[in-house]
Amino acid sequence: MSSQARGRGADLSRVMSECAESIPIRPEEPVRLSQKLWRLTCANPGVMTGPGTNTYLLGEEERWTIIDPGPGGERHLRAMLAAAPGRIERILVTHTHPDHSPGALALQSVTGAELIGRTSTRTRGQDASFQPARQPDDGDRLRLGKDLTLRVIHTPGHASNHLCYLLEEERLLFTGDHVIQGSTVLIDPPDGDMGAYLASLERLLGEDLRCLAPGHGTLMPQPREAVRALIRHRLRRESKVLAVLRDSTPSDLACLVARVYDDVPAERHALAERSLLAHLLKLEAEGLAGETAGRWSAGAGPC
Ligand SMILES: [Zn+2]
Repeated sequence: MSSQARGRGADLSRVMSECAESIPIRPEEPVRLSQKLWRLTCANPGVMTGPGTNTYLLGEEERWTIIDPGPGGERHLRAMLAAAPGRIERILVTHTHPDHSPGALALQSVTGAELIGRTSTRTRGQDASFQPARQPDDGDRLRLGKDLTLRVIHTPGHASNHLCYLLEEERLLFTGDHVIQGSTVLIDPPDGDMGAYLASLERLLGEDLRCLAPGHGTLMPQPREAVRALIRHRLRRESKVLAVLRDSTPSDLACLVARVYDDVPAERHALAERSLLAHLLKLEAEGLAGETAGRWSAGAGPC
């Protein structure tokens, strides 16, 4: 990296760490993270969305790109149009869950911007209205401006079509729902895949990252620590799944979830059951668990 680029990075880092520490999320109020980057959080807080879905505006002068236009609706559409410092040329999505991509349709019809992202081969829980002009592959580079290059990193796991976008000049990664701030994400089979998720997290450890810009929550200035903590958390849970299986007669999901997630309030067990299934499917693929007539046990299971 050139010293000029380092200089820009240092300045951006200062601005971003101040933002990460001190600027609370206020729905539909744009937050300037640097000269070239704004965050606009949609007013859709909830169990699955935390403080709301983050829309990012990235660009310079008259050329701007939106990353994750959110769930749709007039209010967020108006807020995105008002927040954009220049013409919106592109709309990128990280994945097609209903809190991230449906807003692309109306924004595209108003601005004529190019839609970029991947469609899903699944239908359940996916936004079928997202029809991109371009479906980038892993490793593709999108040149958004003179000093703005996004490298596409395919990160399946939370969703099979999930993409992260690395702003190479700043080593800033837009993580969508691959990594979010303050919580873990749901891995919901069959589109959610725990083995793929862990491999996609490991992959980020091979990147030289300075900051994460998540789809939910504030900026995360210590990427490596955050990613390592997520991997540890998932592997600890996996160990608990195995320990419970080895200590039980063959059991169904409802029975297992109460023991594996005994640290999680019972009202969240329905969601936890989905992640439990994701762990079990990973263990099954590794020959460490098996299922017969809806009951799971340790080992490969009866053949
Ligand atoms: Zn998602």
